[in-house]
Parts: sequence; structure tokens; C-alpha cells
Amino acid sequence: MQQHHQILIIGGGNAGISTAAQLLRKRPGLDIAIIEPSEKHYYQPAWTLVGAGTFDIHDTVRSEASVLPKGVKWIKEAAAQFEPDQNMVITANGGEYTYDYLIVAPGIQLNWHLVKGLPETLGKNGVTSNYSFELAPYTFELLKDLKAGDTALFTSPGTPVKCGGAPQKIMYLTADYLRKHGLQGKTKVEFVTAGSVIFGIKKYADELMKKVNEYGIGLNFKHDLVEIDGPAKIATFKVVDPQGVTTLISKHFDMIHVVPPQSAPDFIRKSPLANEAGWVDVNKSTLQHNRYPRIFGIGDATSTPNAKTGAAVRKQAPVLVKNLLSFIDGEPLHAVYTGYGSCPLVVGYGKLILAEFGYENEPMETFPFDQSKPRWTMWALKKYVLPWLYWNKILKGTA
Ligand SMILES: Cc1cc2nc3c(=O)[nH]c(=O)nc-3n(C[C@H](O)[C@H](O)[C@H](O)COP(=O)(O)OP(=O)(O)OC[C@H]3O[C@@H](n4cnc5c(N)ncnc54)[C@H](O)[C@@H]3O)c2cc1C
Repeated sequence: MQQHHQILIIGGGNAGISTAAQLLRKRPGLDIAIIEPSEKHYYQPAWTLVGAGTFDIHDTVRSEASVLPKGVKWIKEAAAQFEPDQNMVITANGGEYTYDYLIVAPGIQLNWHLVKGLPETLGKNGVTSNYSFELAPYTFELLKDLKAGDTALFTSPGTPVKCGGAPQKIMYLTADYLRKHGLQGKTKVEFVTAGSVIFGIKKYADELMKKVNEYGIGLNFKHDLVEIDGPAKIATFKVVDPQGVTTLISKHFDMIHVVPPQSAPDFIRKSPLANEAGWVDVNKSTLQHNRYPRIFGIGDATSTPNAKTGAAVRKQAPVLVKNLLSFIDGEPLHAVYTGYGSCPLVVGYGKLILAEFGYENEPMETFPFDQSKPRWTMWALKKYVLPWLYWNKILKGTA
């Protein structure tokens, strides 16, 4: 049996819920349904702080039912297939849902399986990741257990990731924790990244390098994690030298924080909605699909070349809402997303650099001071203000 809705949204995460809430505030009569399989809704940005033992994991999760805007129908299924020529989405259970307009917001996919040995050793043998609700508390367990002579590794993959700063935020927190406990210089902290720079924007990279030097952190660029042997505590990296020659390098760890390779979700990648790289193929200014005008995309799953963050979603949602309503009314799309993304770079307990920038990597700072300097006020913003704003304003469509 087919079910029809005026607006169908795929994904009830940060993007799906805030967009639905804003649409209903602007036009209360809309018939909106969200396809979302998860019973739980997560505030992922706080997982960095959970890993450092300074935020309660239970405050990062609520039931999906509790965040669903009133009047929105929840279809508790997983979308599996798109038939854009018939304006239809088919779910994993075979349910068929047709729409007048579709918003695609299923987030990014974590590909743990692409690192050999990783899935079976996650959560034990000193192997952890703040990219998982289940594992973030284990990060702090490991951090507390570090002792003189130990090595802590922090990895970052060669793929796009959500929150590009998260792989290193937990590293600075670990280094600060060790410093506070008299272990700086007696333990090794290393960043082992597939990337070639510490951060893409010089203004912030310069300040991060000061922290790297202050904490005595070792830097290894162009190192892509390919295998972990948990019981032996060995991580293996593929390294490409400047001549393009590839070698494998193994490193011992006592603790390793892994950021998994990431991609667009498989069901998006293999769908007609995807661009060549697999992302939902939208116009980077209007967020309308490049080939199917009834379809819009938002959040981590889209092709827009911005930093994949909740901060970006916050700027995208009003643009999508305005443009979709204009489209429904047969008017031109005037709202423009400028590529804004933000990265609250935690560089120690009580210290945060608030990087904010657009498509051209040009800083787009909010406050009337130099945000590249670590500040307690910006830490307070991340730890206290933003979580409150998320649950009480962003998901309600008022911020
Ligand atoms: C450790 C960590 C730290 C971070 N730190 C920050 C930060 O400091 N600042 C910041 O702004 N951002 C941060 N982020 C990123 C932020 O959480 C994401 O960018 C944001 O959640 C993206 O919203 P989204 O709706 O696109 O995806 P999500 O919020 O991940 O939601 C996607 C939803 O789609 C659902 N879904 C998946 N598959 C299907 C399917 N087949 N059918 C239907 N629904 C489906 C999922 O269940 C989920 O509910 C961080 C993320 C992590 C993991």
C-alpha cells in the first residue's frame, strides 16, 4: 500500500528535525512525514567532551519521539531506494511513500569495516572512538589509565568526516589531562593523520601549532590507518612519500582514538540522487537537487563542499526552508547558503578556539574579538550554551 505526504523527509537527525520544525513554524498547515529508523536522537558534538570526562553521556541522547515536532508523522523505517521519476521512496521493509517534495538528510556513514581488524577490537584493547555514543565514555577510561612510558595515538582518515576538528580535539584534551597529572614528557601523544596539514585555514592552524608544540605532540602526516591488531596493540598505516611511493608503517599504542573513514550512506551512493562521489547532488547555494527540482538536500549527506557540522546545518536550514516554500509557491529561489561551517577547536580543558569559515575557507567570525585565540568563554559556549540551544531552540526551529 502506498502512503502520500506533501513533504517527505529522509532522516530525523539534526538537519531533518530542525528543517521540519522551521517549515511548520512558517506554514503550520503543511503535511510532513519523516522516515527515521532510530528510536534515539543524539547530540553528537558533546561526545568530544564525554571522551574527556567533562560531559555526561546521558545528556547527549533523547528519544526520537520527544524531538519530533508536533504534527509531523514519524515513519519508523529506513529509506532504501529512490524512484525520483515517480516521486517515491521505498523503505527497507518494502513500504512505498510518495511525495510532492522530498528533503534528503540521512547524515554521513561511518565505515568502521574499512580498517582491517577495527570492528572486532573497538571498545577493548585500548581502542576507542568519540564517533560512537557507546564508545565515547571508554575514551575517558583509557585516558585516566595512561601512565609514564605509554603512547596515545589519534588518527584521522583521508575521507571527508563530520566535524573535521574532532579527531584532534580529544588529542589536546588528553595532552592537557596528562600535563595536569604530571605526565607530560613521560608519555607520548601523537597525531597520525592521512591529511597533509593540521588545519586548512592558516589563521587557526598557526594557533593549533602553538598548542602542538606546547604539549610536545608528535605529528605524522599522510599516514592513513589501514589495520589494527588490538591484542598486539599495533596500528598499521599506509604512508605515501613525496615521490608517491607507498609503504606500511606500524606503530605501538597503549591507547588509540580512531576516526573511521566516512562516506555518503550506501543507499544514497547507489541511488539516482547521487553525484559522482556519492553525495546527494544539490546546488551549493540553493540546496535544491541539480536534476530533480522537487528534491532538496541538507546536512552531512550532501555534495555541498563545506565543513560537515551541525553549525553548517544551522545556516542551511533557513535557506532550504525559504527556497522550498518559494518553489511550492512557483516563485524563484532567492535564499543562498554561503558555505558557513564552524569548528569549536577544544585545545584543553577550559580552552577553545572558535573557527568559523565559508566555502572559500575565509574566516566568518561571529564575535568582535580574535576567535583564533583560545578562550574560556568559547569553551563555556560549547559546554553549556550550545547543548541548551540545540535541544531547546535549534530542534524547535527557533534558532
Ligand atoms: C564526535 C563528534 C563531534 C562533533 N562535533 C561537532 C561540533 O563541535 N560542532 C558541530 O557543529 N558539529 C559537530 N559534529 C557534527 C554534527 O553532529 C553533524 O554535522 C550533524 O549531526 C549533521 O546533521 P545531519 O542531520 O546531517 O546528520 P545526523 O544528525 O547524523 O542525522 C542523520 C539521521 O539520519 C538517520 N538515517 C540514517 N540512515 C537512514 C535511512 N536509511 N533512512 C532514514 N533515516 C536514516 C539517522 O538515524 C540519523 O538520525 C560532531 C560529530 C561528532 C561525531
